[in-house]
Amino acid sequence: MSLREILTAQISAQGPMRLDDYISMCLLHPEHGYYTTRTPFGAQGDFITAPEISQMFGELIGLSLAQAWLDQGAPATFTFAELGPGRGTLMADALRAASRVAGFNEAAQITLLEASPALRQVQAATLHAYAPKWIDSTEALPEQPTYLIANEFFDALPIRQFVRDGTRWRERQVGLVDGTLAFGLGPAQPQPALAHRLEDTQDGDLIEDCAAAAPIVATLSARIATHGGAALVFDYGDWRSVGDTLQAVQDHAPTNPLTAPGRADLTAHVDFEALLKATAPCTPSRVTPQGVILERLGITQRATALAKALSGDALESHIAAHRRLTHPQEMGNLFKTFGIVPKGAAMLPGLEI
Ligand code: SAH
Repeated sequence: MSLREILTAQISAQGPMRLDDYISMCLLHPEHGYYTTRTPFGAQGDFITAPEISQMFGELIGLSLAQAWLDQGAPATFTFAELGPGRGTLMADALRAASRVAGFNEAAQITLLEASPALRQVQAATLHAYAPKWIDSTEALPEQPTYLIANEFFDALPIRQFVRDGTRWRERQVGLVDGTLAFGLGPAQPQPALAHRLEDTQDGDLIEDCAAAAPIVATLSARIATHGGAALVFDYGDWRSVGDTLQAVQDHAPTNPLTAPGRADLTAHVDFEALLKATAPCTPSRVTPQGVILERLGITQRATALAKALSGDALESHIAAHRRLTHPQEMGNLFKTFGIVPKGAAMLPGLEI
């Protein structure tokens, strides 16, 4: 049975599905899920992420976290964690750059949160020199200093969508019309958890809610507040956005989220307000555009140094990669970042103001 047939049978038997359940099945179904069955990143895949565009991204992040480690007294053992590491490229680039910081790599215990067995295998191959360990949830992060990165992880977590109807909300669902998957709206119901969204929306507005995100940020913030450490989160999104941001991408082109279940990547904008609220026991930085932090961390100097060894097509693609990561009309503004450190600790380099 294909995933479409499985979904159709389930909806026929049980009625329309919540959008978060639909997204979970599309991304992580054990046999047919998008992440569970393929390695979708890079020029050959469906989409390309910042660490796959250039080694400079992971290098600068590794150095920022290594500086935070020095600032906090260089603890002798710590967790160096990544949420949703993809092909392991970011972590490998970060560790290569951080190896210049004496003692950092020796003290780091590499810990990866990854739901996909196929991607765990790719990560194992990329990072074999560093003996990584995998965990199934942030609760399993060891009770010790924790330095953590997440790039394009939170946008892959399932969302629900609600359309405002007076002071109540109608949930967007996946149902069937003539046997074909189709969006519909459930009955208007009160949603106490969305009370704050009555302030900034009008009748008919659509908003999104990612229930899984805040508990993850709360858990890692608790580790960092208790034991020390820092986290850097990169993703695309905004502060409390309004409107449908669910996006399906297949072969570098947008597609309808319902036409190819399990074969297209599904993501949604991250609500940075919700993530920042969950950092409570720590100090968060401002939400800062990706282009701004990369410039502050010295990407142009690094790009210039790397360019010296390049010529021809390799030089052109290096220059294009620098632009793509930082230019406001490319990833520089749509993607944003924030850092977390324990209260009273120095903020991560690049995020001090
Ligand atoms: N950080 C990588 C990959 C981003 S894609 C990069 O920048 O290239 C999202 C990653 O998160 C994938 O590795 C995917 O398998 C993983 N992922 C998605 N949902 C997850 C979940 N619920 N739990 C753990 N990992 C998840």
